[in-house]
Amino acid sequence: MDEGKKKGKAVVVGGSIAGLSCAHALIAAGWEVVVIEKSSGPPTGSPTGAGLGLDPLAQELIESWLGRTHLLHDSTLPLAIDQALGGRFGQWLTAQWAVWALWGVPPQLLSFHEAIHPLIKLNQATDGENNINWTLTRDESFSFRAAHWVDLHSLLYSALPPHIFLWGHLYLSFCVSNDKSNVKLKTKILQTGKIIEIVGDLLIAADGCLSSIRRKFLPESKLRYSGYCAWRGVLDFSDNKYLEAITGLRKIYPDLGKCLYFSLGYGTHSVLYELLNQKINWIWYINQPEPELKGNSVTMKVSSDMIQKMHEAAEKVWVPELARIMKETAEPFINVIYDCDPLEQIFWDNVVLVGDAAHPTTPHGLRSTNMTILDAAVLGKCLEKWGVESLLSALEEFQSIRLPVTSMQVLHSRKMGRIKQGLVLSDRKPFDPKVVTPEECHDLQQKNMPFFGEVPSILRQTHAPFDC
Ligand SMILES: Cc1cc2nc3c(=O)[nH]c(=O)nc-3n(C[C@H](O)[C@H](O)[C@H](O)COP(=O)(O)OP(=O)(O)OC[C@H]3O[C@@H](n4cnc5c(N)ncnc54)[C@H](O)[C@@H]3O)c2cc1C
Repeated sequence: MDEGKKKGKAVVVGGSIAGLSCAHALIAAGWEVVVIEKSSGPPTGSPTGAGLGLDPLAQELIESWLGRTHLLHDSTLPLAIDQALGGRFGQWLTAQWAVWALWGVPPQLLSFHEAIHPLIKLNQATDGENNINWTLTRDESFSFRAAHWVDLHSLLYSALPPHIFLWGHLYLSFCVSNDKSNVKLKTKILQTGKIIEIVGDLLIAADGCLSSIRRKFLPESKLRYSGYCAWRGVLDFSDNKYLEAITGLRKIYPDLGKCLYFSLGYGTHSVLYELLNQKINWIWYINQPEPELKGNSVTMKVSSDMIQKMHEAAEKVWVPELARIMKETAEPFINVIYDCDPLEQIFWDNVVLVGDAAHPTTPHGLRSTNMTILDAAVLGKCLEKWGVESLLSALEEFQSIRLPVTSMQVLHSRKMGRIKQGLVLSDRKPFDPKVVTPEECHDLQQKNMPFFGEVPSILRQTHAPFDC
């Protein structure tokens, strides 16, 4: 930062990946940062979160923030191949409506497990050949890396000064001063109930897909339910008792450890990849009516009964080797999958949205964390370029760079999800893995995401190493 220039102060709401990335990018831009997070402390331990894929640009940005090249590399595994398999998986799912019709019960009145349980029995008669799979697409030039969410969070967090964090602080409200020169926040210290005020030049809303700051500006903007939920889990196979299960899995998925596998069935798909320290990450998407969410979260609480029924269904839908991994996984959980129609603006005066708050997205393009990291980097560069005195210009440039890109990526990911789940699309028939069109193969490849691999010029101008 130039000598004599005023140092800006940003108040960031949210201490997850977007909040931490913004803290790094803004500190690098010479700003003072305070991060407000309602959780009582930084997450620890592997049950927090699951796997995510980092693209080459996100990897470079994180490395530049950490200041040590090997750290991220040593905490991740390569995803050098992007492969989609077709299979005779999941035929029972296409029969859901028939079964509901037989019952005479509208599907929206059924819970997911009430709906699928009889199908398991039905399926035993109709699908005896679900062990077959074949390659639909394979891209060997994929250069992502697989990280465990909690490891990425910990890397980003450990490289920041601890005093900038206010853990256990719930953001309540904000107001912008009449002359627009600053923004004042009210937050509640959850342990004591005390309300405190914090003033800054800029409020960064990194408060996730259910952002209450976004709702303040756009009360009408609603999340869109995708039509499906995802069972997720991470199996820690470091214990020898899983040796046989893992050996079996590697026979079916031989490139585990360097490959992002998609298995596409009729109206369902799953994702599989390996994480560092002998872990397998899996996701299984299931079409169903929108469940009722309790609390401010898109992750559903699951009962042991639900897990048991998921295991039974997995045995009927997936190859036995994958079903076994799902069965052996401790603490699987359900994410209800939402996105949001692209917003028309992502800043108002001194308030800006980043990460999932700015662009809730479905996960099919491995985008949300990568978009988030890029938001932070671009925001930092815009603030560095314009300074706090020209905040409006900085935020306008940030929005002009990021909004068109994230909007197209959200819509593309939505389309990928609908293809992979065999849902109706306006321009094509529902996907059938047995008769895949060239257009579908194109869309299935991760590299065909709009702006894939593109480096915004503001990063190239100011940071020579970005040439990916
Ligand atoms: C605990 C956790 C685990 C996750 N695990 C995975 C994973 O395994 N794989 C994956 O792909 N994605 C995971 N995600 C989501 C992933 O982080 C995001 O999709 C993406 O990285 C964008 O992050 P974000 O910071 O914008 O949003 P989020 O990660 O959703 O973070 C929003 C943050 O804002 C905080 N917050 C919200 N409201 C308030 C408030 N009023 N006051 C104070 N703080 C508030 C939340 O507690 C949260 O920490 C996880 C998110 C969380 C919070």
